[in-house]
Amino acid sequence: MEFSKEEIEAIIADMPTPSRKMATVRWVDEIRPIEGADAIELVILGGWQVVVKKGEFFAGLPCVYLEIDSWVPTEIAPFLSKGHEPREYEGVKGERLKTIRLRKQLSQGLVLPLSVLGDKWDEFFTEGQDVSEILGVVKYEKPLPANMRGNARRYFPNFIQKTDQERVQNRLRTLEAREDDEEYELTLKLDGSSTTFYHYNGDTGVCSRNLELKTDESNVGNVFVDKFHELGISDKLKALGRNIAIQGELWGTGINGNWEKVDGIYFHVFDVFDCDRYCYLRADERYAIVNALGLAHAPILGSGTLASLGVGDLRIESFLAVADRPSIFNKIAEGVVFKSLKDPNFTFKVINNRFLEKGGDE
Ligand code: ATP
Ligand code: MN
Repeated sequence: MEFSKEEIEAIIADMPTPSRKMATVRWVDEIRPIEGADAIELVILGGWQVVVKKGEFFAGLPCVYLEIDSWVPTEIAPFLSKGHEPREYEGVKGERLKTIRLRKQLSQGLVLPLSVLGDKWDEFFTEGQDVSEILGVVKYEKPLPANMRGNARRYFPNFIQKTDQERVQNRLRTLEAREDDEEYELTLKLDGSSTTFYHYNGDTGVCSRNLELKTDESNVGNVFVDKFHELGISDKLKALGRNIAIQGELWGTGINGNWEKVDGIYFHVFDVFDCDRYCYLRADERYAIVNALGLAHAPILGSGTLASLGVGDLRIESFLAVADRPSIFNKIAEGVVFKSLKDPNFTFKVINNRFLEKGGDE
């Protein structure tokens, strides 16, 4: 089955909204003063903090929270474009929310009053409710450079789960409810591009974040397809004979700003998906497969209970301290990923704020 470029674009446009909720209804947890500042203060929502004008929000107030990477239409927040013309993304005038620092305080995202939902606000009065669509808020995605686009074979196969990691800032409450003795694997988060190699009933292939790519001559020079051939993935996966997908980060020259500033392109596995059972394999099974295929695994920084990994108090500051570490070559790592050893589908990422402040995500 093959689709034209137009068909693939139409399929993507029809896809359910991505799992990341950019704009949600939330209750303010806490207001914190900022030393030496009269006009601004901090709003705390879960693991997030946002600098706001003083007196507009208070603990217990329902509001709308927009996460970093939201594309915010000018209509709902014209003040974001103060002093310059609004930017444009996918035909919508607005601004992208980035991590910033104001009066030495980190500020991530945007808090808006519930009135931004208009006179239908009471239809959206549940904590965590996704209001991205009615506000026209979408996730900002960097445009892909030519060496990463390629010719698509089809949309991302439905027998494989797409790679994604929830942020710890949105996991704090779930974590409180989990057992203290649950053990986790801690891996280094590499800043490149998500890549999936798979074998399924005799067929093999390579996918970027959202698409499967053709592996023929039409994609020579495409970084994903070149790596697929270079690693001999098709033969290796066929020899293994299991219906699995190998998921990892492709990083290095020409990819996503090359945060590590290396020469060359590298592939490091972080997950193996079992297509027959539609779930991720446990870490030990994953290591065995990575070894059998002669591939490299993303750096493993440790494993054990949250307490033994230094985050037993479940404080956001503790998680951020673990993520604030050097990477393979850069002094500043993008962050870390926690994966439960007994429940490999329970995972979350902690992004290093120093990486965000340096614009590592741009
Ligand atoms: P983008 O990178 O396009 O901004 P995003 O914000 O949705 O996407 P990321 O912040 O990249 O998502 O976090 C999830 C991604 O992290 C995964 O899709 C995977 O490609 C990447 N990743 C890098 N290292 C690891 C790792 N050790 N474990 C799990 N995922 C990892
Ligand atoms: Mn990424």
